[in-house]
Parts: sequence; C-alpha cells; structure tokens
Amino acid sequence: MAQIVNNKKIVLKDYVKGFPKESDMILKTSDTIELKIPEGSNGVLVKNLYLSCDPYMRGRMTKTQGSYVDSFTPGSPINGYGVAKVLDSGHSNLKKGDLVWGGVGWEEYSIVTAPETLIKIEHTDVPLSYYTGILGMPGMTAYVGFYEICAPKKGEYVYISAASGAVGQLVGQFAKLSGCYVVGSAGTKEKVDLLKNKFGFDDAFNYKEEQDLVAALKRYFPEGIDIYFENVGGKMLEAVLLNMRLKGRISVCGMISQYNLEQEEGVRNLLSVITKRLTMKGFIVSDHYHLYPKYMEMVIPLIKEGTIRYIEDVAEGLENAPAALVGLFSGKNVGKQVVAVARE
Ligand code: NAP
Repeated sequence: MAQIVNNKKIVLKDYVKGFPKESDMILKTSDTIELKIPEGSNGVLVKNLYLSCDPYMRGRMTKTQGSYVDSFTPGSPINGYGVAKVLDSGHSNLKKGDLVWGGVGWEEYSIVTAPETLIKIEHTDVPLSYYTGILGMPGMTAYVGFYEICAPKKGEYVYISAASGAVGQLVGQFAKLSGCYVVGSAGTKEKVDLLKNKFGFDDAFNYKEEQDLVAALKRYFPEGIDIYFENVGGKMLEAVLLNMRLKGRISVCGMISQYNLEQEEGVRNLLSVITKRLTMKGFIVSDHYHLYPKYMEMVIPLIKEGTIRYIEDVAEGLENAPAALVGLFSGKNVGKQVVAVARE
C-alpha cells in the first residue's frame, strides 16, 4: 500500500475586495494524500519545491467572468506556477524523479490532471527556483514583451517601470544587450541601487520620491522615450505618453497600480498616441509559449557565462506564502518573489 502523508495547503478564504491581506488565505493542515496515482489515471503526482508569487494572481482572487484565466475557488487551494518533482506518473512523457515546471497547487503535493501543461526541466545545472522566474513565465514575458512587441533597435531609449521585479530586471538587461539606453524606476533606494549597480541600467530613479513624473521622465530622457515597457499603468502611463518620441512603442505587459482598485482609473494624454504615431500593444505570455525553446537557447548561455543576473526574494515555507504574495502589492519583494516549499 502506498504511503499516506499530510498535505498542507494554502486555501483562499473568500473572494477579495481591495488590497489582498494575508488573512484572505488560510493554511490548512488537516488534509492527507496517498503518494500514488490512481490506477488508469494519466495524471502526475508531484512534490512541490518552489511556488511562484505573481501579480496576475490578484485577478484570480476576484470573481470574474470571461477573463483569460479562471478565478480561484474559495475553500480550495490557490494554484499558480511552480517547480516540482514527479513522484508518480500515469503520463507517458513524465516519469518518477523528473523535475517539471508549470501549474501546481499551493500545497506540498499536487496531483496534476492535465500533465501536458507541465514542462520537463532539462537544464538542472542552474538554480531550480529560476524556473519560477528567468527560466519560467516571467522570463518568457520579458522576452516576448521586449523582443516581439517592441522590436528594439540599437541606440534607442528604453524606459521600464517596476524595473527591479521578476520581469523588469530582465527587460532592462535584454535592452542593454540590444545596445539601448535604459532607465528604470522602482519604489525604494535599495531597488534603484540594484538597477544601476547589479543589472547595468544606465540610470534609475525612485518614482515615489518624484512629485512630478512628467518632469522626472523629461530629466532622464531629454530626447524622449522610444520604448516603454509598461508594468504599472495609471499616473505613470499618463506621464510616459507625454515623453514618448515619434513612432515610439509601448509594450503593455501589466498595470499593477490598477489591480486592487474597485474601479480602474482613466488614462489621460492618449492623444499622444495619434500625434506621435505610437504603437501600444498588449500581450499575454501564454499565447507565446511556442517560443520557449528559442528563448531557452538564448538565455541559458547568458546565465551560465554570467552575462545576465537574476535576483530572487525567497520566502521559506508554505506558511509564509500568503505574506509573500500580498507583499507584491506594496513592493516588499526585492526581485522575483519565490516561496521555497521543500528542497529536492
Ligand atoms: P514584480 O515587479 O516582481 O512585483 C511587483 C512590483 O510592482 C512590486 O515589487 C512593486 O515594486 C511594484 N508595484 C506594486 N504596486 C505598485 C503600484 N501601485 N504602483 C507602481 N508599482 C507598484 O512583478 P512581475 O512579476 O515582474 O510583474 C510585473 C508586471 O508584469 C505586473 O504588472 C504583472 O501583472 C505583469 N505581467 C504580465 C504578464 C503578461 O503575460 N502580460 C506576465 C507576467 C507579468 P516597486 O517597489 O518598484 O513599487
């Protein structure tokens, strides 16, 4: 008979209004799981090693219809991206001992019933947690949002908001590799220092210390901005629009400043889109996963030779996952927010 073990879980209490709180999620310790896939199932049983905290998960805490991703179910475990080890498999492409990344529950062990959504990890000579970040969804987001959407050219002026986060730190480094002039903004001095000293941005500023964002951007981009990588929306977008150059491109990746509002703010200065012949293009990374092998080919050598750096903020233990997730919305995370559930 297969072993039966305890399976701690993080459960969503109820749908959330406004800023999420730690208490919106509960650590449930009473469930058990049999460490075996039922006979005839093509599911995969995994032990979760790392869980990813991502801003889009806030949208899933609200009851929405017709979104690109389902809402969480109150009373059930939260789910998201993670890195896991296969313990038992009914699927022909995965076997016991394989390492995978993809959609798992916020729990110690998950049964993945759609195993084709899991990607087998081939490169294990890099930190495994990277598959929640640079080698996972945020990495692909930076790659697609910058190269595919912005079509950067050498010498162009690039601005990135939320620049020290999971996605932003990579966009800045990709832009430097493309020969661009790169400025990022972030919410603390520590993050600004990282942008300049660790990630090689040409310049960086703390947007919370600027009274007038239009003037601040004018100071950092006297010639204007060719490419804006949009992570925050709201007042920042309004200020950027007035600082864009002719035929500039805006990659609309995220608008985190809007995620906790009951009613989205309006955006002024959209006339600039016409007068400056701007292109604003939104995207969802999951539409572009066919490019993942191409991205891996590019990024793995860059990591190994130390050309690209990646900073993670690792919370230890499943019980600390709610605080880690909530912290994204007040900028507590320094770099990619990961939760370490278990070591291999
Ligand atoms: P992250 O930057 O690692 O973490 C979020 C950061 O956003 C915080 O650390 C904070 O940094 C900043 N922030 C929080 N509230 C803010 C506010 N009200 N105004 C301005 N900044 C705020 O997150 P990430 O994973 O890299 O994601 C960045 C953006 O990309 C998000 O908008 C996310 O939704 C989006 N995204 C989109 C896709 C897609 O497919 N389109 C995929 C992944 C991510 P500061 O300290 O600098 O304020």
